[in-house]
This record gives sequence, C-alpha cells and structure tokens, in this order.
Amino acid sequence: MGRYGSIKLFRLFGIQLELHFTFLLLVAWVFWSSWQDGDWRRAIWSTALVLLVFTCVVLHELGHCLMAKRYKITIHRILLLPIGGMAQFGHIPRKPLRELLITLAGPMVNFLLAGILRILLGSPWEWVYGDFRYGWVDLLYSLLFFNLAMGIFNLLPIFPMDGGRILRAILALRYSYLASTRAAVYVAMPLAAGGVLVALLYENVSDIMALLFAFIFVGGQLEYKMVKRSESLRGRKIGDLVNRNFITLRGEVTIGKTRGILEEQPSIEVVFLEERGRLRMISRQRFHQIASRVPADDSLLPITQSAQTYLDAEWPLQLLSDRFREDDYGIFPVLRGGVLIGILDTRNFNFAGKGKSP
Ligand SMILES: [Zn+2]
Repeated sequence: MGRYGSIKLFRLFGIQLELHFTFLLLVAWVFWSSWQDGDWRRAIWSTALVLLVFTCVVLHELGHCLMAKRYKITIHRILLLPIGGMAQFGHIPRKPLRELLITLAGPMVNFLLAGILRILLGSPWEWVYGDFRYGWVDLLYSLLFFNLAMGIFNLLPIFPMDGGRILRAILALRYSYLASTRAAVYVAMPLAAGGVLVALLYENVSDIMALLFAFIFVGGQLEYKMVKRSESLRGRKIGDLVNRNFITLRGEVTIGKTRGILEEQPSIEVVFLEERGRLRMISRQRFHQIASRVPADDSLLPITQSAQTYLDAEWPLQLLSDRFREDDYGIFPVLRGGVLIGILDTRNFNFAGKGKSP
C-alpha cells in the first residue's frame, strides 16, 4: 500500500491506476447494505453497478489523460476514491485552449458512452416506466443515466470540477491566469456551499454528495493557493531557492561530534557525510529522532542515507513537478557544475497540479 493508503492496480496506456483503500470499503458497504434490505441477487446487482460506474469514472479520467498526453504532459496516476476519480498531472497547461480540450475530453467520454448504450438498448423512456427487475438490462440502463448525469454534473461551473476549469480556461483567453483562477473560485464557492446544504437538507440526496461538494469547496481554495504560489515561481531556477544551511563532514564522524556541531550551529538543517567520494545525508530532524537512541561514540555513517537524486541549480523549478510525484518529495542535494551548493526541500513546493473530477 502507498503512503496515503492507495493500492496500485495496473497500467492503462502507460498510466498507473490506483485505488484508495476506502474505495473497497464503499464496495463492501454497498454489497452489505443492499443484502440487508433485499436479497443476494440485489446485492450482486448493486455491487456490479458500483463497479461499472467506477469503470466509467476511469474512462472519464482516461479521456482527460489521453488528451493531456497529446500535449506531452506527464501523468502521475489516476486515483479512485469513493467520491470519484482524480487524474494527477505533472502540471496543468497554462495555455487556455489546451486546458479547455483536456477538460472537455472527460465529460465527452460520458456522453459517448451514454450514446453507445442508447444505440444498443433503445429508448430509455420505455424502461423508466417499465418494471425494475434487477436484471442486466436494468443495469445497462442505469449506466446510461449515470453517464448522462456524470457528464452534465461535471460541466457545472464549480472549480476545480471540469465545468469550473472550462470557465477558467475561457476567462484565461482574455485575462491573466491568476485572475481567471480567482474568478472561477469565486463563482464556485457559493455553488459548492449550496451543494453541501442541499445535500444535507434533502433526504433523497446521498450524504456522499455533501462530502463531495465539501471536498470541491476546499479543493478550489487549495488549487487557487497553488496557482498563486506557482505563478510567483515561474521562470525561476532551482538555484534561486537553494537553501545553504548545510554542512559537509568527512572521515570518521561520531554521533556525539555531530550533536555538538548541530548545537553550535542551530541554522544547519542537513548534515552531509562524504564517504569515499560519495555523499550520504541526514536531516537535523531525523538526526534528533534517531540519535537519542544511539551511543555518542557510535559512527554517524549507519544512520545517514545515501543521496540518490541530485538536482541541478540550473534546472527550472517547474521541472520538479514534472519529474516528481508528491510521494517522492523530500530533501535533495543541489549541485552547480558538479559541486554541492545546498539543499532543496521539495515538500515546500506543492505545485503538482491535480485534475480532479468526480
Ligand atoms: Zn473530469
């Protein structure tokens, strides 16, 4: 299981599909609750519907991803949560037309699926007024309506849902990216808050919808903050933000000696240990976690980690969000011309764009 409780499934068109473990709880809950107030046949039917619905959610996300791939955007993964799917991109394109096409591709998949089901099954209205038997025809008709609903729902202008992204992209054709994002978020806030209220007040709307709208409300704020931050970092290099609070030690270094150095120089955040031409490192925080359990005479070497990934001071900062997944973020040594000049804590730069759509 991944750091955030996600389970890797398989790759589709080279894109990793992951499942959050709570998704399995949802499937189990659907099976159990329909088994409680029905029979096993209904339980299997409902479970099959949930699985098919989420297959359509994956196809919707794939629509976004395959369009994004045309523009050479890195796609980290598609994550399935009980409230929907989420495609995580290395970055969200700032060219409005591209964002428009990538965003439209998702709901279009749903309308396409609804169209195919309509052709296969015939008019849904006869089915609506007929008997509901929990058969496979009912299953496919339910799926037809679900795809229509999902396509339309996603087009609501509630940023960061697809409709909100479309609004932002249209505004960005004329106004600045930041101002357009802000406007889209201002439009979204009352709508998302209203969605939470409606979902809570009306009993025939599931509580999961309230959760979804709350998630969207917060998601809009977070993405706006992220855009603000990444706009301020645009055109800057890794070297511009390098943190020089490090020290390099050589030879036999003990835990006690290191502790002394850290006490004397409280600004130091990372200790590098050069060992046979290779760099090993440990952060101040990690040192204090481990060192209290280790005798002062012990060597520092075993508790350091070898530096695997180096950043180059000349690389643009934007490259980080393309190359790294959030899970991989951490402290990295930064080199200039092959010489260690400092560290960069990439956990401070949360500008990995996320395409979120239920
Ligand atoms: Zn979408």
